[in-house]
Amino acid sequence: MSETSAAENTTNTQSQTHAFQAETRQVLRLMIHSLYSNKEIFLRELISNASDACDRLRFQALKDESLYQGDSELKIEIETDEDNGVLVLRDNGIGMSRDEVLENIGTIARSGTRAFLEQLSGDEAADSNLIGQFGVGFYSVFIVADEVELITRKAGARASEAVRWVSDGGGEFTIEAVERGARGTEVRIKLKEAEKEFLSRWRLESLVNQYSDHIGIPIRMQKQAGDGEDAEKEGAQWETVNQASALWTLPKSEVEDDAYKSFYKHVSHDFEDPLAWTHNRVEGTQSYTTLLFVPSHAPYDLQLQRDERTGLRLYVRRVFIMDAAQQLLPHYLRFVRGVVDSDDLPLNVSRELLQENELLGKIRSAVVRRSLDLVASLADDAEKYAQFWGAFGPVLKEGIVEDMSNRERIAPLLRFASSHNEGREQNVSLADYISRMKDGQDTIYYITAESHRAAAGSPQLEIFRRHGIEVLLMSDRIDEWMMGYFHEHEGKKFQSVAKGDVDLAAITGDSAEDSAQDSPASEVLERVQKALGERVKEVRNSRRLTDSASCLVIEDQQMALHMQRLLEQAGQEVPEVRPALELNPSHPLVQRLAAEEDEAAFEKLSQLVYGQAVLAEGGQLEDPAGFVRNINEFLFAAKTS
Ligand code: ADP
Repeated sequence: MSETSAAENTTNTQSQTHAFQAETRQVLRLMIHSLYSNKEIFLRELISNASDACDRLRFQALKDESLYQGDSELKIEIETDEDNGVLVLRDNGIGMSRDEVLENIGTIARSGTRAFLEQLSGDEAADSNLIGQFGVGFYSVFIVADEVELITRKAGARASEAVRWVSDGGGEFTIEAVERGARGTEVRIKLKEAEKEFLSRWRLESLVNQYSDHIGIPIRMQKQAGDGEDAEKEGAQWETVNQASALWTLPKSEVEDDAYKSFYKHVSHDFEDPLAWTHNRVEGTQSYTTLLFVPSHAPYDLQLQRDERTGLRLYVRRVFIMDAAQQLLPHYLRFVRGVVDSDDLPLNVSRELLQENELLGKIRSAVVRRSLDLVASLADDAEKYAQFWGAFGPVLKEGIVEDMSNRERIAPLLRFASSHNEGREQNVSLADYISRMKDGQDTIYYITAESHRAAAGSPQLEIFRRHGIEVLLMSDRIDEWMMGYFHEHEGKKFQSVAKGDVDLAAITGDSAEDSAQDSPASEVLERVQKALGERVKEVRNSRRLTDSASCLVIEDQQMALHMQRLLEQAGQEVPEVRPALELNPSHPLVQRLAAEEDEAAFEKLSQLVYGQAVLAEGGQLEDPAGFVRNINEFLFAAKTS
């Protein structure tokens, strides 16, 4: 043995006390308070961990059978010690090394912890909802425990290399080296006085049935005295209390909805039922099974751009291979959860190999198609679809840009708010829109803005409202980006009402010349342009305003002004766009402007007209105080005159 490892050994055998990271403590505390009404989920979480540990060992043993050390019958055991109030969960899975215990159990390993904590509001009810989305895992055991002892030995390690970790879930844990005869992990839970119900055989068994019936690993409990005649003579007798058949391998007709729901909770660590699922077996040149779920709410980190994504587990002939969400799901479907089990992939497939595997490419396309079909099937139920859309709509929109090959499938799933609706609900599909198009209309009109109110109140909508032409109102951040790539649907072009020219002559029957009135005369427009200088590219008469005096318009290919502001605030370089100022010739303010002969007053009126256009668009004035002074001057003049 080398000197360094001998030195490490001496320190490792001593018991060491560590403080939890500050974040871990915060999560722990919050969780214990918030999840109390759901306290039994700790059992599901621990069983999930144990079953994952067995899955991982099975996978590693494919390459190195010696890891089984003669014990290849993977199992989870639940035992109680009523005298001491201790509940024990044991698995003979992969186990953990000392470093892994420190890494996994002493800290919250997830990279999103900080982001999660930042979202906490301090409001208990809202936060407890959040923590459910966060996925609490091992820590949930402290809801019911006074003290937790975890003893683990990594597969392949020596008996003397086992580790004992103890904590009361307060601020600290201790860790020391111990002996353990077998590989795997044992969690000994000293239950709080009020939680002794978890010693009841009946209670435990019903929880296992409820939450963990269809995980693929047998969960065993001791037979109760009197169950079998030999029970006492032969000491402990074990019986399997769950179905222990991987759910997705069963024929659909044999699986109850409740079983799907609890299986979903097992794979997703979600508290809530899924919104929908689809379970399919494909037989042919390639055979595989997919079981896909759409959650009922967004997880806290849905919008984070993380490279590591989880939630879709890849199995090969029922052996868990890895979480392959990244390989099997495009980014815009990152909310999908579930299982894919292939009959044909090689068992020793690595992450790198997966990247290039042709079979996997085919499975991936099938997963994408099935996921989109699943979402489409939700649309039959307006309420469910609204729930889906509220949670995942903005994410799905990314698919319009990301996945050209499925655009035709994604587009019908989109929903928008509309000028035909009173409220802000996004419930109008493109098909709805097209079915309501006016005679002669061949364009889908939309506007993007910072908020729904800003969109709905845009002066650019006025002419459309007047003629009853529907405009889709878009106010998700992603919309402007999406529309930059989404030029037509079903042969109908998209057109932003805040960009370029509007010519509604084909719909309204008015000829373009009629609606584009030629007053004020071009010299007035030039004077306004001069007064405003560099700020506007052009001043012209508007064909879109009926009520407002003025509005700003950019060109078809330019980025919407609200989006430019957003990017600028985020510190990004944005090419400068000078909008055109459009004036409404029939508006009294514009008429007054046209008639104004005094040069100074003309300039002030020009500033007013421009300022109004900026404000209506949601922009910021360069000189707000000057604008207010300016208005007051005219109001005052109006009063006294
Ligand atoms: P999660 O399971 O969501 O990752 P947990 O807090 O439940 O979060 O567990 C953290 C990590 O600790 C697991 O990812 C796993 O690596 C490890 N772990 C937990 N329980 C066991 C176990 N019984 N056997 C082996 N490793 C475990």
